Amino acid sequence: MTSPLRLLTALCCSAFVFLSACGQEPEPVSPESVVDEAEEPAGPRLDVDGARIIAADSEPGNWLSHGRTYDEQRYSPLEQINAANVNELGLDWYYDFETKRGLEATPIVVDGMMFTSGAWSRVYALDAGTGDLLWTHDPEVPGEWAVHACCDVVNRGVALWKGSVFVGTLDGRLISLDAKTGAVNWTVLTIDKSKPYTITGAPRVVNGKVIIGNGGAEYGVRGYVSAYDAETGAIAWRFYTIPGDPAEPFESEALEMAAGTWNGEWWKFGGGGTVWDSMAFDSELNLLYIGVGNGSPWNQQIRSPGGGDNLFLSSIVALNPDSGKYVWHYQTTPGETWDYTATQHMILADLEIDGALRKVILQAPKNGFFYVLDRENGELISAEPYVQTTWATHVDPETGRPVEVEGARYKEGPALVVPAPYGAHNWHPMAFSPDSGLIYIPAQDIPFVYGTDENFEFTPGLWNVGVNPLYASFSEQPPEVQAQLMEMVKGQIIAWDPVARREVWRVQHALPGNGGMLATAGNLIFQGNSTGTFAAYRADTGDQLWSMSAQTGIVASPVTYSIDGEQYISVLAGWGGAFPLFAGDFAAAAGVRNVSRILTFKLGATGALPSIETPKMVLDPPPRVDDADAIARGKQLYSDRCMVCHGDGAVGGGVTPDLRYMDAEKHQMWQGIVLGGLHRERGMVSFAGVLTPEESTAIQAFVIERSHQMLEASGSP
Ligand code: CA
Repeated sequence: MTSPLRLLTALCCSAFVFLSACGQEPEPVSPESVVDEAEEPAGPRLDVDGARIIAADSEPGNWLSHGRTYDEQRYSPLEQINAANVNELGLDWYYDFETKRGLEATPIVVDGMMFTSGAWSRVYALDAGTGDLLWTHDPEVPGEWAVHACCDVVNRGVALWKGSVFVGTLDGRLISLDAKTGAVNWTVLTIDKSKPYTITGAPRVVNGKVIIGNGGAEYGVRGYVSAYDAETGAIAWRFYTIPGDPAEPFESEALEMAAGTWNGEWWKFGGGGTVWDSMAFDSELNLLYIGVGNGSPWNQQIRSPGGGDNLFLSSIVALNPDSGKYVWHYQTTPGETWDYTATQHMILADLEIDGALRKVILQAPKNGFFYVLDRENGELISAEPYVQTTWATHVDPETGRPVEVEGARYKEGPALVVPAPYGAHNWHPMAFSPDSGLIYIPAQDIPFVYGTDENFEFTPGLWNVGVNPLYASFSEQPPEVQAQLMEMVKGQIIAWDPVARREVWRVQHALPGNGGMLATAGNLIFQGNSTGTFAAYRADTGDQLWSMSAQTGIVASPVTYSIDGEQYISVLAGWGGAFPLFAGDFAAAAGVRNVSRILTFKLGATGALPSIETPKMVLDPPPRVDDADAIARGKQLYSDRCMVCHGDGAVGGGVTPDLRYMDAEKHQMWQGIVLGGLHRERGMVSFAGVLTPEESTAIQAFVIERSHQMLEASGSP
């Protein structure tokens, strides 16, 4: 294990930089109006309900819900495509999206129709056999709402229930659409629009209720999950994950209990605990499991001075899906201070452990430990590190609590910690094969220097994490430290045995930020990766059996389905999400950009992607600004306001514009863009409320300086 302190000495004088508006798109996108050219489809039943999802294995040709089944295993019984013939897999059809931002959705496939969401919460219905578009719905999310989205304007999927398609929109609406036509059935607003909430997660439908959470804990919100009647949109219940102002009545007894684990005036910052992605439902126990996110701000010294566990941050919480009442919880990271969410994918399985069949819930959250919990009562069965974890040595099996490494809380000063806020594993779904008994984790090792932002002031609606951005910026490091960091940054598929509690094998990737997983009965797993390859591996050994260039990074999970006895594999390809927006050089190393498509494969198909032109990037900045103070101030301000979307050190990761390539002409528009909001429809809002013209000019000086540094590094004058 690398000492967290060894690199710390080298890193403590430098910066990690953050920024606040995640919206800017390389090219304008003309909003597409609703196209309704679908004739009344004769065949599709589209009448998915709970009974049908529970019996999903009786119709393996369909992919009925987000994780295929309520237990979210992402394992398909289809085996026509298998380890013996997968080398005959070829591209059958592809569908080009009109957007150029990250694609994270898992499509739903029912009775020959495919339903998916794309960037900006748009919904698409296609013929799953041909890729022909049947209808599309654009909820017309205002571009400026992207300023509240930490991690791209993505959406992770829709739900289907009794002929309706449900989508949560980036600006907080839940919409019901007619699955055959795309016509709007109803729309409800699930958030207080005066607060920076977003929705990127896929709804689940349980017992006739549509369950949806939200994001925003980097900006200052209080997390909750809500249930709406699938037919009418009427709200059924809401469960807040953390207590509000204790001067007000608590919404539940569970929150009264939770309030005893908080200190200070957390509610003024929002407090966090957003339920922005994972859920699972056990129909036998009638329990809904939700994954709860990080604190807001991240830094517990600011959020809850004096400490405390801060329930239910970073916890798995079991709820009654009919009433929203609390049943049990397990907290993975007490007193969370590193953005260690427990919102990562949860898989339900029945495993034989120590001779007894246990109903378990499996999770590999950001904090680097793989958890096996008894899902009847939340009891910890085991927790083992699945990657390097420098913040805690182990989880005590008696107390169920992590044993932390001294200094990891960065109270006394900055600390280099692995995993990073990107997580040892993020939202990218895992898969579980009952055949191999293995969980396939798209895992990663990324170091991060955490240090308190001594000048932290809560800025409503903007980036509010309480971590000083000037501690660990990659571009500020001397070359030898950069080389060390690049060496530490890794991504891999880990095949994990949850019973033996150990890694069985791994596939090493060049970089982190790789796609979600699919496992099949054909002894196969499928995954796309950050360097633009889509590949199939043997599920039992990890041997790569087939691959294809996708021309773009893939972060979404593949699905499989069949039509008229023919099996298909399908995946949304399109580089995006937190890693390429935020990670600067780490992400740029992938060398990919966003090309947004659905790729669908079958045996014997011979399709090919059109060749893509790599845009010629020319560095042509205005002259250097001869003002070191302005550049230094600009660097700090860029870190605070710009990095979260435009990347560490103004290095673009292939999704939002790489600002170093702004030419002199574009630079003349700088104040108009930054303060005037010229590109607000693409997500680059006006920062006039938080930046003075002088401050904006200082950021410009820093960006120009970065262009010249790049010119110098490339050997040009
Ligand atoms: Ca977070």
